[in-house]
Amino acid sequence: MEAIVIELSRFIRHYLVSSLNDIGVTTQSFTSAGEALEAIKAGARPSLVCTSLVTSDLSGLELRAALSSDARFREIPMVLVTSSAEDGTAAEAIKAGFLAIFRKNDLTRFGPWAARFLSSSPDIDVIRGRILHIEDSRSAVELIAKLFAEHPVEIDSCPSVESALVKVGQLPYDLILADYSLEGERTGLDFVRILRNDLYSRIPVVMLSASSDRDRICSILESGANDFVSKPVIPRELLARVGILLENKYLIDRLEKQKHFLFDMAMRDQLTSLFNRRSLFEVGPKEISRARRHGYQLSLLILDLDHFKEVNDRHGHQRGDEVLRQVGGLLHTILRDGDWAARFGGEEFVILMPNCGLDNAAGRADQIRLAFEALKPADLLVTVSIGVTTCKEGWDFESLFRAADEAVYRAKANGRNRVERGEDLEGELPGQTRP
Ligand code: GH3
Ligand code: MG
Ligand code: MG
Ligand code: MG
Repeated sequence: MEAIVIELSRFIRHYLVSSLNDIGVTTQSFTSAGEALEAIKAGARPSLVCTSLVTSDLSGLELRAALSSDARFREIPMVLVTSSAEDGTAAEAIKAGFLAIFRKNDLTRFGPWAARFLSSSPDIDVIRGRILHIEDSRSAVELIAKLFAEHPVEIDSCPSVESALVKVGQLPYDLILADYSLEGERTGLDFVRILRNDLYSRIPVVMLSASSDRDRICSILESGANDFVSKPVIPRELLARVGILLENKYLIDRLEKQKHFLFDMAMRDQLTSLFNRRSLFEVGPKEISRARRHGYQLSLLILDLDHFKEVNDRHGHQRGDEVLRQVGGLLHTILRDGDWAARFGGEEFVILMPNCGLDNAAGRADQIRLAFEALKPADLLVTVSIGVTTCKEGWDFESLFRAADEAVYRAKANGRNRVERGEDLEGELPGQTRP
């Protein structure tokens, strides 16, 4: 089963893709609806297309219209992902044939919805994932491999506690099948004790043993094994027990991801999915300490859109929001690994560039300035003034921020649509922030 995700923000794209991966759906992702349309025309047959309203070219609604106009693609199910500001679009989207609409500030509904929607189709399998089989008998290893042959699982095997501990450290297993008697001194019971006590791992473990000694079975369960299956194994029983544990594991993994996502969401700006003001003042000081510790340079850019009030005054606040959203999208695509960007005010953005000196940062600032000029968000010419600084000895985050802010002020005073450096503040702390 396959799905397509179209979304500009790397962060949200990744969330959608991993929600789909979690329920066993492989996913192709795009930032451009046009490219996704080409992929569909070239033969991709997604069971679900999840698109954002704004993409790098066609809008989500235009993509829906393009698919609806072709009998071959009319039935492809689509859902829309929008930011909360786009209220008027919901009715339009449903009329256009979208099955559901998800707000970017509440994507936790997406995973469960997709699971329900796609599970009416039979090829979602509960028994899937990566299993480690700890067993010293070759024939038993082969027997288990055969038993799982029809399921999309990957099984690794190893004969001893020592080799199993190495493997657990190397790969994220979804479940462990452990025999009681193993090669070497230690037993499967020893393995479970080490896993639970020393490694604090919650990977589900099913223990297999030919012994029916109740005492031993109790010790196995008390040590933290999730289940016990006696040998010779009855295939249906083992598959059922493994299926339950795997399903629970996926549910827990998904909750963990959602928790992480919610935390991340609180640190993000809803309109642009960039980080917000709160996270800027948390992350900024940490980045300075890190740069000092590792001995690299840290640059900071402040971007302030030019005459943005006029955009609102002339074209309305909604069009202004659209500009901000597209500018956010541009920043998402322009950032390099390690860069970090926030929208910390209405039309003001910050980019942190670790491991980047002033000349380099000023060069990149100018590229960003040109990219803004070329963007024409919402069909408007929008320019940006940028202040760039590099952290000096003795500066804290506030000094760094103020130096860049002062440079923006000069960029405004010197005609806007330009980059100014905060370098002439050598040796002294920058002064008052602009009004
Ligand atoms: P300058 O070139 O000096 O920066 O001029 P400016 O008009 O961009 O600067 P100013 O700070 O005076 O105005 C910023 C405007 O940004 C004011 C407000 O109308 C607009 N703004 C702030 N937040 C938002 C928002 O979330 N959405 C929209 N549409 N406009 C916003
Ligand atoms: Mg401003
Ligand atoms: Mg201003
Ligand atoms: Mg401005």
